[in-house]
Amino acid sequence: MKVIVDYDRCEGHGMCEERAGDIFRLDDAGDLHFSYEGEEIPARREADAKAAAGVCPVAALKIVS
Ligand code: SF4
Repeated sequence: MKVIVDYDRCEGHGMCEERAGDIFRLDDAGDLHFSYEGEEIPARREADAKAAAGVCPVAALKIVS
């Protein structure tokens, strides 16, 4: 499973970071950093990555399998 981040769509709401702060992190400038850019999400982190994608209010996190 991978997550595609639409950085143009992201508005820095931070819900993903609240749900999975080790995967999604906002820096001081409000820019989102994604720990698994272009990589498979480790199986043990899939549930949290999916949950984070589910709470994004602007649907900037897309799950692809
Ligand atoms: S919840 Fe969505 S809009 Fe907010 S920081 Fe995460 S990806 Fe961006």
